[in-house]
Amino acid sequence: MLRLHDTATGETRPLELRDPGRVSMYVCGPTVYDVPHIGHGRFVLVFDVLRRYLEFRGLGVRYVSNVTDIDDKIITRANAEGRSGAAVAQEYEAVWWEAVDGLGVKRPTETPHATEYVEGMVALVASLEERGAAYETSDGVYLSVAAVDGYGLLAHQSLDSLRSGARVEPGEEKRSPLDFALWKRAKPGEPSWPSPWGSGRPGWHTECVVMSLDLLGEGFDLHGGGIDLAFPHHENERAQAVAMGRAFARHWAHNGWVVVEGEKMSKSLGNFTSLSDLLDRTDGRAYRLLVLRSHYRSPVEVTPRTVADAEEALVRLDGLARRFDLGAAEPGDLDEAGARAAGVDAAALERFVGQMDDDLDTPGALAAIFDLVRRANAAADGHDDEAGRHLARTAQVLAGALGLALAAGEHEIDANSASLVARRDAARAARDWALADQLRDALAARGWVVEDGPDGTRLHR
Ligand SMILES: [Zn+2]
Repeated sequence: MLRLHDTATGETRPLELRDPGRVSMYVCGPTVYDVPHIGHGRFVLVFDVLRRYLEFRGLGVRYVSNVTDIDDKIITRANAEGRSGAAVAQEYEAVWWEAVDGLGVKRPTETPHATEYVEGMVALVASLEERGAAYETSDGVYLSVAAVDGYGLLAHQSLDSLRSGARVEPGEEKRSPLDFALWKRAKPGEPSWPSPWGSGRPGWHTECVVMSLDLLGEGFDLHGGGIDLAFPHHENERAQAVAMGRAFARHWAHNGWVVVEGEKMSKSLGNFTSLSDLLDRTDGRAYRLLVLRSHYRSPVEVTPRTVADAEEALVRLDGLARRFDLGAAEPGDLDEAGARAAGVDAAALERFVGQMDDDLDTPGALAAIFDLVRRANAAADGHDDEAGRHLARTAQVLAGALGLALAAGEHEIDANSASLVARRDAARAARDWALADQLRDALAARGWVVEDGPDGTRLHR
């Protein structure tokens, strides 16, 4: 059984399932007001790998990840650009899925949108108020954290110590600096929904607790996200469930930071790096490899050097597929039982599962895969092609369990390159030569020789 670190207990412990054989997991998705950055890319990859690995072990996974399509940041952008919040959200949600697809991430089984659940959120806020856990002010409704037993669990701090580090801003009517908005009364011109407290919109923390409990039910198995969400966002989700007397997530998993040039990545530091830009420069599979080379709870350093290292490792994997003519296989086409039935190398499979069961030790799992690559090549160098092919196929199956497809054909065009080709053809049709040249350079940087054929852009290696 998979043992996973639990942020709530601080211990690595078995992921015990509410319903045997079935996993229910919720991961906080994006607020769609801007392009995604490489930190978003990390969390979607980490939880995609967790989901794929659980499926590889033969479990059914219901994976819910929300889209926050109403938020202060969306409204700010909409007002600045003179358009509706819905238009902003729609545009950036499309950008989000394009980038996520470029990483080869499987779509969650459900992607609820906040605006579809407002009624449920109003009902939750009303119940919290009835129970005396929430109170109204002139600008909305707040949760009183004093009403919540064990507030601060995910921060590993007591209410008192958290309170001493926070303060009420001038003009705020909160009873405690830690109290948070459940409902925000609308200012003129803002998108709003009716409620007993006047028209307004739900707070972010209310959205996730309503959607996760509605879709996955009480006591669902796992709640995840980036470590920056553990406090206050996840703590505040949990606080609402506790105040309602409802069982919330049984296990909490959080991934570490992305570090750019030695500093925690953030927009304010000016080292913000867009995921789309990264995917224009490199194969999405290389970023997956880069992320998996660090343990999910450790920081990942993204620099030209770590990207180049990951690309080099990818070349070795693709080279293996070519050498043994493995053919294209959808990653995850075989689960563990299927892999055994297909007769993959049992010792390697055992080692891989042992590493992954140990708190998702992907660096160890990759080491097992690259050990197979080395042994497969050594066998073929010694003219034992059959043994080599067997080891190579095992490597392909195990890489697939991590969501990594091996590109077998030299001329196979990956999804990101194909999208660059489509954009370049569109730019040429629109006679936008500068953009067409820019996209040609982007393709060249990915190792393609670009030609203009009668029916558009053609690629060669
Ligand atoms: Zn959330």
